[in-house]
Amino acid sequence: MAEENINTDIKSLFPDEIKELVKEMGEKPFRAVQLFEWLHQRRVTSYEDMTNLPAVFRQRLSEQYPITVLRKADCLISKKDGTRKYLFELQDGNVIESVFMKYHHGNSVCISSQVGCAMGCRFCASTIGGKLRNLKASEMLEQIYRIQEDTGERISNIVVMGTGEPFDNYEQLIRFIRLVTNEKGLNISVRNITVSTCGIVPKMYEFAKEKLAVTLAVSLHASNDETRKKLMPIANKYTIAEVIAAAKNYYDVTGRRVTFEYALAAGENDSDNDAAQLSKILRNFPCHVNLIPVNPVDERDFKPTHHEETLKFQNKLEKNRINVTIRREMGSDINGACGQLRKSYIDRK
Ligand code: SAH
Repeated sequence: MAEENINTDIKSLFPDEIKELVKEMGEKPFRAVQLFEWLHQRRVTSYEDMTNLPAVFRQRLSEQYPITVLRKADCLISKKDGTRKYLFELQDGNVIESVFMKYHHGNSVCISSQVGCAMGCRFCASTIGGKLRNLKASEMLEQIYRIQEDTGERISNIVVMGTGEPFDNYEQLIRFIRLVTNEKGLNISVRNITVSTCGIVPKMYEFAKEKLAVTLAVSLHASNDETRKKLMPIANKYTIAEVIAAAKNYYDVTGRRVTFEYALAAGENDSDNDAAQLSKILRNFPCHVNLIPVNPVDERDFKPTHHEETLKFQNKLEKNRINVTIRREMGSDINGACGQLRKSYIDRK
């Protein structure tokens, strides 16, 4: 499905745009409200189910505006904590991953924003085959709609931390956020959404201007530019100082604390000196650091920092009064780094 066809992708359209479409088809404006509710509140997958719309109108809609639906291709369920890893097939045959997690504060879904990724982070499995295409807003929504239907459980939190760089698919990301928070749709609180970026600085400034009160997570993973360049190609474009300045601007404009993600890889970025430098960089910035022992990927030779060393790293940051947590491991029995379910599926084919 080509990106230029996006305007016929009815599930990616805002209520006003559906109103326009309905008008062009010569139908009454209230039909637009009905359509939006069928798509985003009742989340039906076919026009046939939209029983209060005239049959002729439904027929014309199905010819001109096919509804984007994802197909569940696989699902791994953790016996330990109920975490579920989904593999969804898109209508063009590509596959993507999403994860469902149960927390005491509610259910959370981690969604993909692209098919593959172009960012090339060295430790990441999602980027190995490069980026195939952006996801449409409807395809981001569908990951949540299908999981909510499959589990029968209400989803209250969304993290855009699956495969892909959300700021490399900016327009559809914003569309997705506005649709998923629409009160006539899933009506998710914007405060319960987290968007994670590898640090595309100009987009971080643009995102602040949207005034969305979304939590921004920034993948830092290093305490100096030299190390960061070894781990993340994006570091050749923007310095850590520029990334931090953009994060501070986000906090100043939105009042939302920024989270910094730091994947600890043994011997790469986990020394005492790294902890000291990181403390210095983040001094006096009301933020949160999330330490993640790196998840080993077959194709890459990074090893996770040992638990004791991780605690030491955490301790050092805390001594410098930095707010820090170690990421709780979910679904360890169905684990494997993000992107690996998709990769094994593609390899099998
Ligand atoms: N492109 C975005 C979001 C997707 S990645 C970003 O870079 O933030 C989500 C998070 O998982 C990022 O912090 C990413 O660096 C991290 N990550 C990727 N592969 C990992 C691995 N093998 N182990 C630990 N964290 C990893």
